[in-house]
Amino acid sequence: MTAETPDCGTDCQDALTKLEQFLDGELPDTNVAEISQHLADCYPCADRADFESQLRAIIRRDCAESAPPALIERIRQRLDATGA
Ligand SMILES: [Zn+2]
Repeated sequence: MTAETPDCGTDCQDALTKLEQFLDGELPDTNVAEISQHLADCYPCADRADFESQLRAIIRRDCAESAPPALIERIRQRLDATGA
């Protein structure tokens, strides 16, 4: 269980900051290209983006029906693991 620490520190921080807008489709085109490029090069951030987008889908669906407790528990564990 080694924490992955990419050596693109500042870049990752920047990418994760913009990730929310990116997933919401609110990011300007120039930044979208920037984030897309980063996600293509950086596995931890790509993994995080994938997880965040799944989380969003669950949250949206949760408006209509409750997420199963087992799934919520998995999300909690995953968030702990990524150190979010
Ligand atoms: Zn990164």
